[in-house]
Amino acid sequence: MCGILAISDRDDVSRYILRGLANLRHRGPNAWGLAIHDEDRGFRLHRSGEWPTTGCSTLPAPPFQGRVGIGHTRYATTLSKDELTLDAQPLASNRPGLVLAFNGHIEDAALRSELEGKGWLFQTKNDGEVVLNMLCEEIQERLDRFASSSGQQCFDEAIVPAVQRLMERLAGKGSYSVVAMLADGGIIAFRDPHGFRPLFFASDPLEGPNCVFASETAAIGAVGQYKTLRSINPGELVHVTPSGNVHAKLLQRRAAAFCAMEAVYLADIESRFGGLDTYQLRQRLGEALANQFQGLREQIDLVVGVPESAVPAALKVAEIWNRPFGGLLSRSSTRTFLEPDQAIRESAAKYKYRLVQSTIQGKRIALIDDSIVRGTTMRAVIGRLRAAGAKEVHVMVTFPPVQHPCFYGIDIPDETQLIAARAEGRIEVISDMLAADSLNYLDGKALRQVLASLGPVCLACVDGWYPDRSIGSPSAAVSPNGHQYRPESLRPLVHIGE
Ligand code: AMP
Ligand code: SF4
Repeated sequence: MCGILAISDRDDVSRYILRGLANLRHRGPNAWGLAIHDEDRGFRLHRSGEWPTTGCSTLPAPPFQGRVGIGHTRYATTLSKDELTLDAQPLASNRPGLVLAFNGHIEDAALRSELEGKGWLFQTKNDGEVVLNMLCEEIQERLDRFASSSGQQCFDEAIVPAVQRLMERLAGKGSYSVVAMLADGGIIAFRDPHGFRPLFFASDPLEGPNCVFASETAAIGAVGQYKTLRSINPGELVHVTPSGNVHAKLLQRRAAAFCAMEAVYLADIESRFGGLDTYQLRQRLGEALANQFQGLREQIDLVVGVPESAVPAALKVAEIWNRPFGGLLSRSSTRTFLEPDQAIRESAAKYKYRLVQSTIQGKRIALIDDSIVRGTTMRAVIGRLRAAGAKEVHVMVTFPPVQHPCFYGIDIPDETQLIAARAEGRIEVISDMLAADSLNYLDGKALRQVLASLGPVCLACVDGWYPDRSIGSPSAAVSPNGHQYRPESLRPLVHIGE
């Protein structure tokens, strides 16, 4: 998971990029970077493996002049400081002159060797660099047409075929949402044909000419006010010329599969998907939970939500069941999920929240979280609630049991680490492993219904149906990292709301 951003044709663009990145920090707490197009000096880059401790206003604004820029926030799976800075984005290439910011995940080993064999150099371990070099290769092959045309003609004859070919080469290799800055200061942005990761486009500003691309609408809101705001379609390419002309084309269409986790957990509560803000969507998930487990209501004295992403759902359950809400407050925004080993994750999860003992003591609690992955958070919170005198703890979760890894850019590990997979999906076993009094997962069908306005969603980590591999070739049923897709999971996905 990462955040990407691009702004075209705006005075003092680096200041606005920093503002936007501040609202994408939850997607990339580990590193950030920006690149500005300078008409005289080409691209100028600033990347850092460190964020300021509070907000973003203290980010050192690099003294880069220019009207076009892109930015990136990085969520890493490694915590080594050196690697964080080294692998931070945007990524740049001088051949033929391209800077790129990438959100997604590419199974890149074979593609990397292929490109290395053709003389393309790699400076990082980042899978985004495969996309960068591949795009450079496709542009390089069409350099004469890039040089001899401009505007719509350049889009039709050079940019479209280059990105089209890139999409063909990346088919079945994972997920990607990309913003890239061309040597002339033009911007291109595209999403993979399944649309796993989000990407929005806003234009027609109320003040001055410019447009913006961002992973989430919360970042667009931080940059300015726009008349037109839309999601880039899966498989769509958008090009903005340095003078602000916009060209767009749908290049490939596959079964849409937007990541359900985005709405349930990842995105900022202010961000909007399918016409609703994430806060509203999470409240609706709470409503669905309250309805599905109506029978539990009489056993509950207090509703507790795990801060912060589960709070909208928990507030809704409390409202519908007419029960008080409280007990747990957030202490820090530390991502315990990211810690390198389980012992550190457990101790961090234990002290991440502040607990109000007087509200907990003697209570029968409904404890609500957005998801359970390894079970670390839930075990730690239940342990603390019991230590504070909770009489019963009934767990309610707005995402069904996570039993499969994610290959599309979300840090969901292999089955050996997933509590639901270790329990072979048996809810009573998971409940015992968590030391809960009961465990109540939102039904997958109810989840799809709540998310219907987002279009068809990916739930591969729940049902094992991997949208980009189950169509067509049976040989694609084994991933390069050896994960065997179960034949019974290769079933057609039924999309509620179609
Ligand atoms: P776990 O503690 O491993 O069961 O993870 C579940 C908790 O981490 C929940 O409280 C979620 O809000 C959060 N979470 C779920 N998925 C992720 C993810 N991919 N990255 C970081 N945090 C996550
Ligand atoms: Fe999102 Fe899960 Fe699909 Fe990954 S597998 S894209 S986390 S829904």
